[in-house]
Amino acid sequence: MIEKAPELRPKNTIAYLVVAAGRGSRAGEGIPKQYRFLGNRVVLSHTLSALHVCAPKAIIQVVIHADDQELYEECLTNLTPQARALVQPAVFGGATRQESVRLGLEALANRTPPDVVLIHDAARPFVDPAIVERAVVSAQTYGAAAPGVALTDTVKQVNDQLMVVATPDRHCLRAVQTPQAFQFLLILEAHRKAADGLREYTDDAMIAEFAGYSVHLFLGDTKNFKLTTPEDFDRAMDIIKQHTYADLPDIRTGQGYDVHAFEPGDQVWLGGVEIAHVFKLAGHSDADVLMHAITDALLGAIAEGDIGAHFPPSDPRWKGAASRIFLKHACQRIRERGGMIAHLDATIICEAPKIGPHRDRIRHSLAALMALDVDRVAIKATTTEGLGFTGRKEGIAALAIATIRLPS
Ligand code: MG
Repeated sequence: MIEKAPELRPKNTIAYLVVAAGRGSRAGEGIPKQYRFLGNRVVLSHTLSALHVCAPKAIIQVVIHADDQELYEECLTNLTPQARALVQPAVFGGATRQESVRLGLEALANRTPPDVVLIHDAARPFVDPAIVERAVVSAQTYGAAAPGVALTDTVKQVNDQLMVVATPDRHCLRAVQTPQAFQFLLILEAHRKAADGLREYTDDAMIAEFAGYSVHLFLGDTKNFKLTTPEDFDRAMDIIKQHTYADLPDIRTGQGYDVHAFEPGDQVWLGGVEIAHVFKLAGHSDADVLMHAITDALLGAIAEGDIGAHFPPSDPRWKGAASRIFLKHACQRIRERGGMIAHLDATIICEAPKIGPHRDRIRHSLAALMALDVDRVAIKATTTEGLGFTGRKEGIAALAIATIRLPS
């Protein structure tokens, strides 16, 4: 007779321990990969949201690097209030992943120790409810468990000269993922025992093994991959795109318009790009008329006033401030509502300077500032055939329309 796995009893409290203290930047860009944008939010935010959906009552303990506190706080703003309420104060990690996990376990032990803890990598955002359910049941049944997937490649063991010394039977091998799941006190004691620094362990299952426990492997999922290389990020982006649009059905548009006059000078700023000219644009900041129109379009799309309401020109804090601060603020407001920018179309109206030669630089500059694909940013330019203030070369006008998507 096959024994049925025990039902989850309410007294079995679950905690997630998410390890986000790594410095890994193999995936490119300067910042740690867990804080890189993937669509409308950073990787860690995707991971925490997914975990919360999988077990909506589980508390969430994140271990971060002391240098990342600001990035981390920003990442939490994208969670639902229900998820955020379960997030415990962050713990700073140690010199190794092993130490970071132990510090996270100690923090949980000092507050309310759960019955079961699921230890998960920050860079695995595609964890799903089926894996989490298998993890919890396995931890309750076996004490220590980890998800494993069968290997498709044959594995060779090599020596220092890269000569093959053995070919293990592939059928006996599994690649191990996270979340790894444990009865809390078991893994806490195992980590304390392993903390002598004599040996470094690369995953928590190995620490349970070291402490003398048998570890059960339950079925993992190849979709639950870890983001490591730039190719992983491309693959993740494809998955995110498929989901994001379906999840954000509330489509809105906003328009923006701005004008700045010329004054003596030798360059203008348009979309964050410096363009040599015989005048500069007058204004209390860098007078980036294009960025101001786009910022107003974004704020318009969420019906949150205009740039002047968020950054009053009368406030000395914004005197000379770079316009990218205004634009990033508008993008952040959309993200905080769980939304994303779908498209941006802008028109620059002037006789001079000529915009054509700079169009692509401007598109790339804006796309980078807003964490958008370049093919979602359109920049056009026109003259007014010598008519009006732009025709008289007294200044530049800019129009923008933003399309955004919000959750329903
Ligand atoms: Mg302006």
